[in-house]
Amino acid sequence: MTKKQLVLIGGGHAHMMLLAHIENFVARGTEVTVIQPSPCHYYSGMGAGMLGNTYGIDDIRFQTQKVVEKQGGSFVLDRVIRIDPHNKEVICRQNNRKINYDVLSCNAGSYVPDNLFSDCRSNDIYPVKPIEGLARAREQILCRGKAHPLRVVIVGGGPSAMELAGNIHQLANSEQLAEVAITIIAGHAVLPHAPRRVRLLVERSLRRRGVNILTSSRVKKIEEGLLKLTSGKTIPADMIFAAIGVRPSNIFIESGLPIGPDGGLRVNKYLQSIAHKSIFGGGDCIYFAACPLDKVGVYAVRQNPVLLHNVMAALVEKPLKEFYPRGTYLLIYNLGDGYGVLQKWSLTLGGRLPFLLKDYIDRKFMRTYQALEQ
Ligand SMILES: Cc1cc2nc3c(=O)[nH]c(=O)nc-3n(C[C@H](O)[C@H](O)[C@H](O)COP(=O)(O)OP(=O)(O)OC[C@H]3O[C@@H](n4cnc5c(N)ncnc54)[C@H](O)[C@@H]3O)c2cc1C
Repeated sequence: MTKKQLVLIGGGHAHMMLLAHIENFVARGTEVTVIQPSPCHYYSGMGAGMLGNTYGIDDIRFQTQKVVEKQGGSFVLDRVIRIDPHNKEVICRQNNRKINYDVLSCNAGSYVPDNLFSDCRSNDIYPVKPIEGLARAREQILCRGKAHPLRVVIVGGGPSAMELAGNIHQLANSEQLAEVAITIIAGHAVLPHAPRRVRLLVERSLRRRGVNILTSSRVKKIEEGLLKLTSGKTIPADMIFAAIGVRPSNIFIESGLPIGPDGGLRVNKYLQSIAHKSIFGGGDCIYFAACPLDKVGVYAVRQNPVLLHNVMAALVEKPLKEFYPRGTYLLIYNLGDGYGVLQKWSLTLGGRLPFLLKDYIDRKFMRTYQALEQ
């Protein structure tokens, strides 16, 4: 009898429990293949902290390939470009390689759209995702900031823009870089979806440390080293960070699968494609039709046990479990220099305590999954 094939696209936050249980699948006679463009997965919650030198690169990465192979699974270092649901195969970028599945789970995350800077050839633009790109940005800041004054511009007004600004400030300070000027071009407003008190705390903290924040201004075009704003103003920059929001991986659009308005794989309450019963998904790459979710790791993490159960159930034709997103979630921004802003329900708190709490939660999460590497 041929073995059943389980294929996982991406080893992101929603697949951590599946990755931890590969040996159970293998023991039951299933072949497991994980496809990912990097041997490691990088934890976004600690990405800004890595840029700021709070964490080393090893602290924030999970060695996907090692964990998969150790448990008897196969790891394919490649990027999936398309799914063919009729032939039940995924198509990878290198040589259009095809991999068959009986059950497929997708956790390919999201990307920063490049429409603002697609005409610009500069190597000096750093999208906030993939997270590993921030390690290259840190090297560049260190290398260039030691020799010359450096103008860093961050485009975006959301949480990741704020976290990057604060942590670049921390990096410059801790490495005693002579002159690093940080500007945020925040668009309409800083953290437009956050409560007023959160906005005030974040803005105050960054401005106090000399970060220049421009609001009511959007970037129209980026040319080599120059940002042109809709107001007519131009801003020179040596390094540009793009934190303009994310879109779900475009695999599903390319595959002609049912999607949500944002292009994410449209899934039902079982985290299952509404058109193809053997396709599941979680994290930023899905559109949860019953209740569209924010693109935060919290939901990806909450989806883990349901994905684990449903993927196993689909292989053995057992009943599926429903996913309940549950209510609000704790948000903590790491704004660098040991300062954090916490928000949950009507509670808002700024200071060192929120930073320490985030640091504790994030390190604990990483320790749990990094233990699988041993
Ligand atoms: C700077 C920053 C800070 C953040 N901080 C927080 C926070 O503190 N708390 C929070 O809840 N959320 C935070 N978020 C949001 C969070 O990053 C996302 O919601 C979370 O990463 C979603 O997890 P994911 O597993 O879906 O995607 P990802 O973390 O992006 O993982 C996707 C995985 O799929 C792989 N992959 C991508 N494309 C392909 C492909 N074509 N084929 C195969 N594999 C592929 C990637 O290599 C990656 O390993 C932050 C985001 C950013 C940018």
